[in-house]
Amino acid sequence: MSDEIKELKKQLLSTKKNGYDQDGGVDTAAMEAYCDGYKAFLDAGKTERLCAAETVRLAEKKGYKPYVRGMDVKPGDKVYVCNRGKAVMLAHIGTKSLAEGVQIAAAHIDSPRLDLKPNPLYEDSELAYFKTHYYGGIRKYQWVTIPLELHGVAALTNGTSVTVNIGADSGDPRLVITDLLPHLGAEQSKKPLGSAIPGETLNLLLGSRPMGDEEDTGRVKLAVMKLLHDKYGITEDDFTSAELEAVPAVNAMDIGLDRSMIGAYGHDDRVCGYAALKALLDLEETPAKTAVCLLADKEEIGSDGVTGMQSAAFDTFMEDLCDAQGVPLRVCFEKSFCLSADVTAAYDPDYADVYEKRNAACLNYGIGLCKYTGARGKSGASDADAETVAYVRRLFDDAGVVWQIAELGKVDAGGGGTVAAYMANRNITTLDAGVPVLSMHAPFETVAKLDCYETYKGMKAVYQAEK
Ligand code: MN
Ligand code: MN
Repeated sequence: MSDEIKELKKQLLSTKKNGYDQDGGVDTAAMEAYCDGYKAFLDAGKTERLCAAETVRLAEKKGYKPYVRGMDVKPGDKVYVCNRGKAVMLAHIGTKSLAEGVQIAAAHIDSPRLDLKPNPLYEDSELAYFKTHYYGGIRKYQWVTIPLELHGVAALTNGTSVTVNIGADSGDPRLVITDLLPHLGAEQSKKPLGSAIPGETLNLLLGSRPMGDEEDTGRVKLAVMKLLHDKYGITEDDFTSAELEAVPAVNAMDIGLDRSMIGAYGHDDRVCGYAALKALLDLEETPAKTAVCLLADKEEIGSDGVTGMQSAAFDTFMEDLCDAQGVPLRVCFEKSFCLSADVTAAYDPDYADVYEKRNAACLNYGIGLCKYTGARGKSGASDADAETVAYVRRLFDDAGVVWQIAELGKVDAGGGGTVAAYMANRNITTLDAGVPVLSMHAPFETVAKLDCYETYKGMKAVYQAEK
């Protein structure tokens, strides 16, 4: 190749490359330290409630205080509100007025799982089970024959709540959903993946040991209920007002002989949630604009509900902060920027035909910028404007953040959405970005450490931006 062509190529054509090949290389020690913290965060927070509690614990350790309406806020103050134990909003008050807008990173901390039904307990053929109703987009065949834990609360009519935790403590038993043996699975194997495992067969096996005399009935169910009563003081009717969630009983671990990846349940979207949180907690100096971190619930079922990103809880939090500075909320919002941080699909060479390689996010190419999400002609997407994408490009380039383009799959191959639209609908300039994930929504998802760390760096750049 002539020097002239080489030079022209460098000048005119995109030079996106693997994050490990970037100028200056990778700070492996910093990346590994960050990922160790992330793995611990995942293990501590397998449900939105546990994740919110862990978030509050980490934030308080860094000096964050619960915000109470009417409280004075001044530059340098660190405050948070935990919304009903399931979503957290944190702010590090900047030196500039809230009238200049705030820098937001928003992610979600709920993940696909199996929720218990309100009347879940039954016995069949002298085996006891819990009936479940799945939450979020799962591929049902992936949830059978894997060990599961059960977490959540039972709210009692006396106003108290009992925390249920089966499987997290060492020595705890686990639960499982059974599947057919191949010897008898010939007919089932002919069915499409999506219908081979019907939702009503996702029943958690709880016990098999009867109590009492042979002539009694329902003895296994009763024995299981007695165990639950002995440990938690609950009765069968208390399930009605319980939120109990079955999640994979597996902790985060390194993947690959080179340990370059992390396998875990719930990367979507705790991988961005942790990046948004950790970057905020690591801010050493008071930021120019107020830095806001949102960790929302209910994204996997549409962001509706009182703890979802469509809830007025966020507006209330921001309005309270604005009131403290005498700033109208709308003035703050129209000057604000939000990085809606959610995972994207990583290019998977085993399933190449659903991706469009030129626009797909690849492992180790950094945080994926997603101008639009949506399906069928971008429907449901907020479709960030070109100026906003340019703003983030500049922000990331200046901070040395490795980033790439991320479109979720081929045109009309499917699609997805996230909280971005609900932030943009509030008149907040918003762009989607996040970590590419392999096997997204599976009980065990995989991400690259490099992408996790670059996402953290990206979040920090957002919080530290002066404009
Ligand atoms: Mn997500
Ligand atoms: Mn998701």
